[in-house]
Amino acid sequence: MSQQHNSEQNHGGQRHGGQRDGAEPRHFETLAIHAGNTADPLTGAVVPPIYQVSTYKQDGVGGLRGGYEYSRSANPTRTALEENLAALEGGRRGLAFASGLAAEDCLLRTLLTPGDHVVIPDDAYGGTFRLFAKVVSRWGVEWSVADTSDPEAVRAALTPRTKAIWVETPSNPLLGITDIAALAGIARAAGVRLVVDNTFASPYLQQPLALGADIVVHSTTKYMGGHSDVVGGALIVNDVELADELAFHQNAMGAVAGPFDAWLVLRGIKTLAVRMDRHSENATRIAEMLTEHPRVSKVLYPGLPDHPGHEVAAKQMKAFGGMVSFQVADGEEAAVAVCDRAELFTLGESLGGVESLIEHPGRMTHASAAGSALEVPADLVRLSVGIESAEDLLADLRRALG
Ligand SMILES: *Cc1c(COP(=O)(O)O)cnc(C)c1O
Repeated sequence: MSQQHNSEQNHGGQRHGGQRDGAEPRHFETLAIHAGNTADPLTGAVVPPIYQVSTYKQDGVGGLRGGYEYSRSANPTRTALEENLAALEGGRRGLAFASGLAAEDCLLRTLLTPGDHVVIPDDAYGGTFRLFAKVVSRWGVEWSVADTSDPEAVRAALTPRTKAIWVETPSNPLLGITDIAALAGIARAAGVRLVVDNTFASPYLQQPLALGADIVVHSTTKYMGGHSDVVGGALIVNDVELADELAFHQNAMGAVAGPFDAWLVLRGIKTLAVRMDRHSENATRIAEMLTEHPRVSKVLYPGLPDHPGHEVAAKQMKAFGGMVSFQVADGEEAAVAVCDRAELFTLGESLGGVESLIEHPGRMTHASAAGSALEVPADLVRLSVGIESAEDLLADLRRALG
């Protein structure tokens, strides 16, 4: 394989089912189903097959069919997903990884060298924080924490060695909102790259590249896959040179999405638009119920008019998503008890599946942030609101709250 693996050569540079030159642009719901999803040329199968294969017969030495040589470098099922991801985020290239953290690791090792500095948010996925605090720091990469919902705080955190600003919006688990366009302006002026983890919103609700971000990160384990049955990650970019560097590192380090995992994510994405609409509707009803509940001291949901990021969220998101966090009036033990008493809300980590989940971030997903600037309140409960009947979900929560 050539050093700079170019995925365009895999499929003749065509975007099958995606945007077509000269034709009217297709809408998100259509792209979700068709981008990358070509009928199989051999059989006409309407769903891309799972190419469960490691290597490819060459027509004479170096005579690759469609650019495929070895499945770490490229695999047709993964190519289908990567084209789909690029189309949905409005980017030129997508890359699919074995997990969200594998995607983040590839990105950081591509962008950074010792002595470089990154501004990270004061509220982020615990594993992202751990990657900076325990892994990246060992290679001499420096980072500092800023409240990314305040553009001036981010500007103040920049140093001459800053290479990237890292943003999660909505953030995990406090559902903070960052103004992507405002930070893109700051990043551009400073000559640094803006990275947006778009896992909580999904490209149906929010498209960071169109707002000026340089790189979109996903844990496709969550809303993209949508069924709690696969672990995966993705990077999407517009800059083709950067895409080539990322693809080089993806192949050099090897944490790629396997064919079956890529297929599961591609399958999940087909219903992303309808799922996100229902997640957002159900979450809104639950946030409203919690706001009225006497045993709840605070509800964190960007769809609520009194949420500090509500206006920015309304500007940059199509709806407010399926994640709701709340604080329980009687403190940590009461919050843990709510998690234990819920039945329909399954007690578990992760998010973004069709089934509702409940968890205690302080002791579960964000235990690795204890004692740091990213420590979360002990009385906090996080919900991943699924697409079940809202009535049943409301009844389960009311009962769990007692
Ligand atoms: C889960 C998650 C990740 C990490 O993804 P994995 O697929 O678990 O490796 C990164 N960012 C956010 C916002 C997440 O929720």
